[in-house]
Amino acid sequence: MPEASGRPAYDDTNVFARILRGEIPCKRVYEDAFALAFHDIAPQAPVHVLVIPKGPYLSLSDFGRHASEAEIAGFWRAVATVTAQLGLEDAGYRALTNIGQDGGQEVPHFHVHLFAGRRLGRMVPASG
Ligand code: 5GP
Repeated sequence: MPEASGRPAYDDTNVFARILRGEIPCKRVYEDAFALAFHDIAPQAPVHVLVIPKGPYLSLSDFGRHASEAEIAGFWRAVATVTAQLGLEDAGYRALTNIGQDGGQEVPHFHVHLFAGRRLGRMVPASG
């Protein structure tokens, strides 16, 4: 249900909100004031980590439009800290964020997937 502003409402029962509140466990990789990183429950590559902001943002677009400068800087610094700590930068990795229905977003809390550990192929998989 959109708010009066036209901004879609954030559903704080989503699974990542519950992870942030400690209601659901996660395999934590990194945490600071702005972000939490943890292993995806259904990894699609040898390394598959999710990085999420601590604030209630639906998507990359919502985050970019409504987060504070400190939240935006803090979040992307955290992503870079995670890629460095996991040693992903030499061999390379993919950062991906799904947005909305056509983007295939399942969890309505902004998150960046980090995939690594093998050659990842073309950017967009075959349809289907
Ligand atoms: P999306 O499709 O929204 O971009 O990605 C959501 C991701 O969250 C999926 O890769 C899915 O495996 C992961 N996921 C869903 N539920 C949980 C959970 O409870 N714990 C963890 N660690 N990952 C989850």
